[in-house]
Amino acid sequence: MDAAEVCRLAEEAAVRLVRFLYCDNGGIIRGKSTHRHALPERLAAGIGLTVAMQAMNALDQLQPVEGFGPVGEIRLVPDPASFRVLPYAPHQAAMLADMHTLDGQPWGACPRSFLKRAIAAADALGVQVQAAFEPEWTLAVRTDEGYRPLDESLCFSSIGMLTAQAVIADLVDALQAQAIEVEQYYPELGHGQQELSIRHTDALLAADNQIRYRETVRAVAWQHGYLASFAPKPWPNQAGNGAHLHWSVWDRTGQTNLLYDPTHPTGLSRLGRQFVAGVLDHLPALVALTCPSYNSYHRLRPQSWSSAFTCWGLDNREAAVRVVSTLRGREMPSTNLELKPSDNTCNPYLALGGLIVAGLDGLRRELELDDALRADVDPATIPEVEREARGIRRLPDTLDAALDALERDAVLMDALGDLLARSYLAVRRSEWRAFSTADAAFEQRHHFFKY
Ligand code: GLU
Ligand code: MG
Repeated sequence: MDAAEVCRLAEEAAVRLVRFLYCDNGGIIRGKSTHRHALPERLAAGIGLTVAMQAMNALDQLQPVEGFGPVGEIRLVPDPASFRVLPYAPHQAAMLADMHTLDGQPWGACPRSFLKRAIAAADALGVQVQAAFEPEWTLAVRTDEGYRPLDESLCFSSIGMLTAQAVIADLVDALQAQAIEVEQYYPELGHGQQELSIRHTDALLAADNQIRYRETVRAVAWQHGYLASFAPKPWPNQAGNGAHLHWSVWDRTGQTNLLYDPTHPTGLSRLGRQFVAGVLDHLPALVALTCPSYNSYHRLRPQSWSSAFTCWGLDNREAAVRVVSTLRGREMPSTNLELKPSDNTCNPYLALGGLIVAGLDGLRRELELDDALRADVDPATIPEVEREARGIRRLPDTLDAALDALERDAVLMDALGDLLARSYLAVRRSEWRAFSTADAAFEQRHHFFKY
């Protein structure tokens, strides 16, 4: 789709406002809108944004980061291919935007451009990643005592389906209207918890779809009078909300899934095993991108099915990387991997870009997937001395520790680049400080309503 086509579609749908959306370093989706009459010039030149926004944390506290102050401007330049008329907002459309410098170059602190660089690095090695975020989220109703879960339904229970059915029906329509293919739906374990998965696609579109998904769920739930929350741990005593990251690695033509090797006992090719080895090697740092909020670490606990250790396993839902069993008759195309330590407070461009960077590092270094890191049981049940001897490490148990690991990870830091790394660390460190010195109610409120 080009700019002319976008203008034609906008006119045809009588769109008045077009949102230029981006996701910031705090994982918050933000944007500005243009009226349709200015769309042609805004598509070319973008909408101005202060550089300071990439130093703003999830509490709207601007962090002192050199080069991210009140002076300086960038442009939100939308990707024409991302244009969608919004089924939940009358006469409005949305596009996903890149951050450009005034002379039209990708800005160093632009998360979407980081993912594009990771995709280009994969292409240089002759591979492309397909992915899908698999979000879990919570439906809540307002009461005089505050928000409570929509229901107390059981895992996969048909009563849960019934309670949420009107929202889910509209949600399916709204996602499909934005060319997002729905795969499965079920009520999850937690009270009011839902899981509706969408089809995998190329990496950039998968990250864009995660933004659209969060926007759409929020909006549709709101229209039904409910609040949808993507907080990793919406209530301390309920199941956490993950956004497991499923991925596969294909050849350039997109015809052959390079993960697949039926002759190996894991079903994974040498390339697949190297990719996973790279992800596991970088995982303590990578979670600073995939589980990046203070609240994330209340989800990422042993025996929560969210994973808490650097191990992999065949269909092991307590392993950080689950090798997913294939579908009978569709073995090659359905071979995929699942990163469990990932949640919806991530900036999907940074999370997926980081995963690709880590995996490619495994390919370049020809890492072996260590059998000692394979867990065929819940890793929490392996005695600690044995875990240590096998190199199965506990994932960072706080955001602060994850950020320390990221700062020490030269490969990820280098891929992020100076501007993005500095602004990201400053923003997420400030969130750690703000929440670690406040009480649980403050943490719950801010994560519950902002994600
Ligand atoms: N809710 C779990 C999590 O926080 C995942 C449950 C599952 O789907 O395996 O990741
Ligand atoms: Mg689930």
